[in-house]
Amino acid sequence: MKDTLEDAKGAGLAAVQVGVLKRVFIVSVEEGYYEFVNPKILGTSGSQYGTEGCLSVKGKWGDVKRPRKVTVEAQDRYGKKFKVVARDFFAKAICHEYDHLDGILYTDKADNLRDE
Ligand SMILES: [Zn+2]
Repeated sequence: MKDTLEDAKGAGLAAVQVGVLKRVFIVSVEEGYYEFVNPKILGTSGSQYGTEGCLSVKGKWGDVKRPRKVTVEAQDRYGKKFKVVARDFFAKAICHEYDHLDGILYTDKADNLRDE
């Protein structure tokens, strides 16, 4: 999954996007590279509004409202639990990937959907 993400120069990728039906996603942001297994969003606050794209919806962009801050609990690949408080772009990336686990695409929520 990491290779796929790097090849595509994306910020995040959910397992379902590569045909694996598991509640797993990865996010690669300034804060680092994170693997989330069975993630749970414990809380959100604030809001931000910004442009998003998706490796599953190539060549399109749209504006989506997301929380400014999210607190997530998940396991790493070894089953060890961790908690992370993400802000700004990191929070947005987590929300985007988390939605994939429930079959939701950002295009379901976006305003001003446009081509590249
Ligand atoms: Zn996506």
